[in-house]
Amino acid sequence: MAIQYCEKCGKETEHKELIKQKPSKYGKSRKEKFKEFLSGFLAGVAVGPALASIELIDRYVVCQECGHKKLENHGEEFQ
Ligand SMILES: [Zn+2]
Repeated sequence: MAIQYCEKCGKETEHKELIKQKPSKYGKSRKEKFKEFLSGFLAGVAVGPALASIELIDRYVVCQECGHKKLENHGEEFQ
């Protein structure tokens, strides 16, 4: 949980991170492995810069007050 500014609320609120996997350009087995890796990763506490740098995921933050979703990829690639 992180405190971030929410455009909708117009103030700083608690945000929860949400991570979605982008459609993979790799084969299925690779994808499955990635899923395993990702769920293992998410089981840990830290969802940090290391994870955000993985280009196969979209990282969102969700406002806990209004539910507003904001895309928060840190990579340069917006597809
Ligand atoms: Zn909000």
